Amino acid sequence: MSTTKFLTEDEHLIQLARLYWELDREEKTFPHQLKSLAPRFAIPANKLTKTVLETCEASSPAIVCETCGRARRYDSRKDYLEAQRYYSRYGSWRCWECYNEEERRRREEEEKRRELAARQALALRLHHKELIEKAHARQEGRDYLLPTELSLTSAVYLFSAMKAGGPVCPRAFWERLTTGFEEPDVFAPRIIKDISLTKAFDEEILDRLKARGLVAVSAASEPETFGFHEDLIVGYDPGRVQ
Ligand SMILES: [Zn+2]
Repeated sequence: MSTTKFLTEDEHLIQLARLYWELDREEKTFPHQLKSLAPRFAIPANKLTKTVLETCEASSPAIVCETCGRARRYDSRKDYLEAQRYYSRYGSWRCWECYNEEERRRREEEEKRRELAARQALALRLHHKELIEKAHARQEGRDYLLPTELSLTSAVYLFSAMKAGGPVCPRAFWERLTTGFEEPDVFAPRIIKDISLTKAFDEEILDRLKARGLVAVSAASEPETFGFHEDLIVGYDPGRVQ
């Protein structure tokens, strides 16, 4: 049932609004059709709803906003019937202002959550980078093997790895050609992969070179190429690490 508040003292219009909003006994339909009301009140049928809305405010004491408690207002009989259907289906209703406010708050919280997640991811990445740097820092003053001490296998493996890691240009050549340009660091960390035809053989080659101190995992590698378990580095992707 709706409550009507009249905004006029014109009895003629009040009577029209009463009939317009009058419900049948089951409160399911409006028995007074527009086409029968129009000639009775000498108002065109298409102007009738507008006239009624200017005459009175119809609201529902049964359907109120669950947030602010404001009663549901109706701007047509169709609106009224839709509101009843919605309410009987969902058992609650929220006004447009409260709905918008909640949406705004929800978006704000979502944004905050995303920012926090991004900050945490960045902090974790930095932490992982520190762990990598600690674990793979260049060991200066370490005894490297002399070329004459290399076994033939190691030498072949080393050259294959160097080739797979991209061409190494003699410094003098670059000095001649790139005057004024930044000199590329031939010892800069690089990704070494596809040395041989199989991944297993690649790993064998790298393991041998690593064991002899001829190649090492660089601390400059991206943290995403490593696997971590809490504060321990548990592995890395040989195809992506530098
Ligand atoms: Zn509300």
